[in-house]
Amino acid sequence: MTDTITSPTTTREAVLAAAKRMLAEGLVEGTSGNISGRLPDGLVCLSPSSVPYDTMTLEDLVVVDLDGAVVEGERSPTTEKDLHLAALRRYPELGSVIHTHAVYATMFALAHEAIPAVIEEVVVYVGGDVPCCDYKGTGSVELGEEVAGHLADRGAALLANHGLVTCGATPEKALHTRRAHRQDRVGGSGHGRHDPPAAGQGELGHGGRLPLRARQLLTEESGRPTAK
Ligand SMILES: [Zn+2]
Repeated sequence: MTDTITSPTTTREAVLAAAKRMLAEGLVEGTSGNISGRLPDGLVCLSPSSVPYDTMTLEDLVVVDLDGAVVEGERSPTTEKDLHLAALRRYPELGSVIHTHAVYATMFALAHEAIPAVIEEVVVYVGGDVPCCDYKGTGSVELGEEVAGHLADRGAALLANHGLVTCGATPEKALHTRRAHRQDRVGGSGHGRHDPPAAGQGELGHGGRLPLRARQLLTEESGRPTAK
């Protein structure tokens, strides 16, 4: 038996607002990174390819179907669209995916090293450590499927030699999952550190891994207080 899941949806305005916040918070620069949001009609709103965030408008956003065919918009969707569509196809409880080249997370990705779950907030929003996916070519269908496979029980994954993907029910929640990664700054490079206990492991009772249904419940809970 599987639960019937009503997918969370968002708006073009919310996608654009989150894109602007990604720039304001220094998670992206220029035209790097990209964002998606599932719309009420089942289509997906994607950020465009090669448009700077500071001048991006609603008209620049591109609407595609789950297979990537453009339904609306004058521009081309992000060349990394498969990162988004593979996850949104596979996990109906997700409504948004964000991809950035955030510096500290990318350092872990370059080292092919998972970011350990040493801050409780990360366990709440990510579900445990942030795994590093196997290397696949940027923008490839294979990369999309590889990353989606790692998001089954996590809110985030690292792309080897590349960057970070986070996901959530809405663009704002996907962005918050990214914010939880302040630990990739305070947690150090992963070298010379004390081996941390996996934060929250005992409470979760799944060896730090969240079953899909549990993640769904977490991402539905927008007002959850964050660990200080
Ligand atoms: Zn990228």
